[in-house]
Amino acid sequence: MTTFTKILIANRGEIACRIMRTARRMGIATVAVYSDADRDALHVAMADEAVRIGPPPARDSYLRGDVIIAAAKRSGAQAIHPGYGFLSENAEFAEACAVAGLIFIGPSPETMRLMGSKSAAKTLMEKSGVPLVPGYHGSAQHLGALRETAERIGYPVLIKASAGGGGKGMRVVTREADFAEALAGAKREAKAAFADDRMLIEKYLSRPRHIEVQVFGDAHGNIVSLFERECTLQRRHQKVIEEAPSPSLTPEQRERIWQAAREAAKAVNYINAGTVEFIADAENFYFIEMNTRLQVEHPVTEMITGIDLVAWQIRVAMGEAFTRTQDQIKARGHAIEARVYAEDPDKGFLPSIGTLHHWKVPDLRVDSGYRQGDTITPHYDPMLAKMIAAAPTRAQALRQMMEGLKHFEVAGIATNIAFLEKLIAHPDVVSDRMDTGLIERDLAMLTAPASFGPLDLAAAAGAAMLRERRPPPSDGWRDPWDDDDGWMPAGERRRTYSFRHAGQRHDIVVARQSLGATARDGSAFDVVQDGEKEQASAVWLGRDLELLTARGRFKLHWIDPYAAEAGSAISDDRIVAPMPGTVTRILAEAGAELARGAAVLVLEAMKMEHTLRAPADGRLVALNCAVGDVVSEGTDLADFEPVRSGPQP
Ligand code: ADP
Repeated sequence: MTTFTKILIANRGEIACRIMRTARRMGIATVAVYSDADRDALHVAMADEAVRIGPPPARDSYLRGDVIIAAAKRSGAQAIHPGYGFLSENAEFAEACAVAGLIFIGPSPETMRLMGSKSAAKTLMEKSGVPLVPGYHGSAQHLGALRETAERIGYPVLIKASAGGGGKGMRVVTREADFAEALAGAKREAKAAFADDRMLIEKYLSRPRHIEVQVFGDAHGNIVSLFERECTLQRRHQKVIEEAPSPSLTPEQRERIWQAAREAAKAVNYINAGTVEFIADAENFYFIEMNTRLQVEHPVTEMITGIDLVAWQIRVAMGEAFTRTQDQIKARGHAIEARVYAEDPDKGFLPSIGTLHHWKVPDLRVDSGYRQGDTITPHYDPMLAKMIAAAPTRAQALRQMMEGLKHFEVAGIATNIAFLEKLIAHPDVVSDRMDTGLIERDLAMLTAPASFGPLDLAAAAGAAMLRERRPPPSDGWRDPWDDDDGWMPAGERRRTYSFRHAGQRHDIVVARQSLGATARDGSAFDVVQDGEKEQASAVWLGRDLELLTARGRFKLHWIDPYAAEAGSAISDDRIVAPMPGTVTRILAEAGAELARGAAVLVLEAMKMEHTLRAPADGRLVALNCAVGDVVSEGTDLADFEPVRSGPQP
């Protein structure tokens, strides 16, 4: 048994902060590490000590195991907590920690190595009698052999990177004709992300659920399960909303899945926190992989069990034995987590970067690594926060989540909050008729912008009236044009306010008696129109208004009555980088005639590929970039000449 007095957290963002909170509670000092992009980050401010580990790209900082180990040694830490992502499932790193005399808070390198290969893990699980999805996880990797396997299993099949994670290196194939191309694509992605392009093939289950079991082992041979989580609501195989317990399993099925997960953990003498993932159809569940780390969604398990999983991880790493047996671990109530991302659902969920000019979280558990004023950079995962609701029943937890999302205020960058609100209210989510394809099927509805109606326009006018009465509190910035006073000089006191929303102009003529606005705390205010009162919230950035009403979230621009209005910001004669990133592929040649929407080039940003497309039917006049170019937001990547329809002058 060892006792830690100081640990280093080899991570950033919400998980680094979350680990520090627990360490502090346990009386353990914390050492943060940071890249140049994170010098002023919350996790650095929270830690007792902080060590710079390199420039912004993760491979030069958060993935530099050697630098991190040296920092731990210098600071006198006894252990390293890797969080999730980065080095958390890297067996070589865990080994290097041991060589350096540091304790890696996680399972053994052997277990990590074994489970890091989905193929090896499946072979082992098969031997232990854990049910598997029909498929192939052997060593043959030739196109011919794999395609034959797919034929035998029967389409649709799923091609999966054995080393995969985060939904990368995965392709669904519905017919033989598409197999070769899908395999090549999956291999390319896997090679880039994991430096390993070995693939396995699985039967692609239609409409499955994703159910996973939290397991925990101590160094004394005890293995327990902390019950299951349902993570069926996914977009592109990435979890969006998670809950515990699963609303879909019968009590017998729950017992069976916990048992299977414990068997899986026993098969590898598992130590520390792990998650055994299954996909399930109505009758059966099948093992897909085991994650040898703390999961993003671990808070829902904490909320129903009352157990601090990070504290357990630290105690197990110190060599303590569990003080509770499986029978003494109980779950109560229902918890739901939503992942709030800096991304724009209107633009295909493109990551959004910039400054968090306004940030106000609701009164629920919110795990985040950001504060108001922080900058979201393109270097790391765009998750802003996790919000967790917990209540005695699922219906209550859903309601709590809904209320919480409504009061989650972010301005300065785009978020997926409106999308989450619609998802939580989706009838099939409310009534638990979910499967992993739900989001993709109803994407149009889930991302449809709220329609901007007369009540919203009145609320916008109310916000503008309040703004005129006092300077904007958030940034103190005041445009001289803001002092315009458009009151009509004679007759009844009327005033016109004009806003632009989604490219359209909206005018509202306000008579003094018909509309009133009163400020509340922070950005909230009441609007009273013709005697009807409602609450709204407004955040100003210059003349841009982020308005939140009972009907939705709106991005507006208060039109300056004196300034000439600039035309539409979108041009069809250029392809511009929507965010900083690296050009990874060029898919069209200069001079090519392209149809609107044809792929022109691929930009990699925030660890994701974004295909930039022809803005109209026309000709690609010139490419102003090459593969490997690192470009900033707004860079002109290509010139385009749209074909103008209609009579030419
Ligand atoms: P990763 O490690 O990249 O997250 P997983 O193997 O955990 O990959 O799978 C991620 C998600 O992909 C699952 O949660 C599920 O939604 C979907 N999925 C995986 N395997 C299958 C399958 N055989 N059939 C249908 N969906 C699957």
